[in-house]
Amino acid sequence: MDVNTSTQSELDLWAEEFIGDFASQRYRVIETLHVSQTKFQKLSLVKTAGHGKVLFLDGLVMCSERDEFVYHDMIAHVPMFVHPNPKRVLVIGGGDGGTAREVLRHQGVDRCVMVEIDGEVVDVCREHFKQTSCSFDDPRLELRIEDGVKFMAETQETFDLILVDSTDPIGPATPLFGEAFYNNVKRVLADDGMVVAQGETPFYEEEAQRLILQNLAKSFDNRYMYNYNNLCYPGGLWSFVVATKGLCPMGDFDEARIAASGLTFDYYNAEVHRAAFALPQFQRNNLGDL
Ligand code: SAM
Repeated sequence: MDVNTSTQSELDLWAEEFIGDFASQRYRVIETLHVSQTKFQKLSLVKTAGHGKVLFLDGLVMCSERDEFVYHDMIAHVPMFVHPNPKRVLVIGGGDGGTAREVLRHQGVDRCVMVEIDGEVVDVCREHFKQTSCSFDDPRLELRIEDGVKFMAETQETFDLILVDSTDPIGPATPLFGEAFYNNVKRVLADDGMVVAQGETPFYEEEAQRLILQNLAKSFDNRYMYNYNNLCYPGGLWSFVVATKGLCPMGDFDEARIAASGLTFDYYNAEVHRAAFALPQFQRNNLGDL
C-alpha cells in the first residue's frame, strides 16, 4: 500500500503519517480497503483499530470516521449560522462528501455545487466511506469533477457561501491558496457572502497561515481566522480562514438560529462558535493584525 506502513508481524500493520522529517502519527490497520495512484494523488483507505476508516491522500490523513464530524461541523455550520439566509453554496474539493453532507442538512439550502478535481476520491468514498458520502444523491447537489481553480475562473453563478475544503497547499491544491483564486472568489460571492477555507495549523504551518491571510488581504478587507481541535491532524489545533464583503462572523452570528434550525451537532454549538475565534497568543503574534 502507498500509506507508509510498518509491520512486525501479519497482525501488526500500521499506517503512518509523517510530520515533516521529525515526527509521525501511526494507526493500527485492521484491513486495507483501497490503494491506488490516481491522476492527481496517492489514494488509500484503511480500516483502523481506533479511528474506524481513515482516508489518506499522498500519505496524509484527510479524515477518519472517528473525528470527521469536527472538521465538517466547523467548516460548514460556522458560516451557515452567520450568513442570514444561505441558499446557494459552493464547495471546492471536499471529495469525501462530509462538507456537502453538513451543508445539505440545512433545509434552506436550495443548491449546493461541489467541485472536486479527483473523481476517484468521490468513487472510493461512495463505495467505502458512506459516513461522509451519504448525501451525494441529494437532488440539491450538483457534483462536478473538475479543477476548482478553473471552475472559479469561469463560473458566472453567484454564491452565498464558498467553502474551500482542500488538501494542503501542494500539487493541484496550491492555487486554491493563491491571490488569483481569491480574486475570482470575490467576483463570485454575493454582497453578503462569505468564504471559508482550510487554514492549516498554527503549530507546524506558521508561514502558510501568514501567506494565506496575506493573499486574502489582496481581495478582501474583512478577514478572520478560527480554530478547532482535531484528533487525527498533526498538532491537534487547526484553523479555518474566513473572508467577507461586510459580514462579521462574530457580530452577525445569530445564536437563536441554531435552535430554530432543529439541527443537532456533536461538536458545533453557540459557545464553540464564539470561542473558536479566540486565538492563542502565539498564533496572534505570528499573524500580526491579520
Ligand atoms: N478535510 C481534509 C483536510 O483538511 O485534510 C481535506 C479533504 S480532501 C477530501 C480535499 C480534496 O480537495 C481532495 O479530495 C482533493 O482531490 C481536492 N482538491 C485538491 N485540489 C483541488 C482543486 N484544484 N480543485 C478541486 N478539488 C481539489
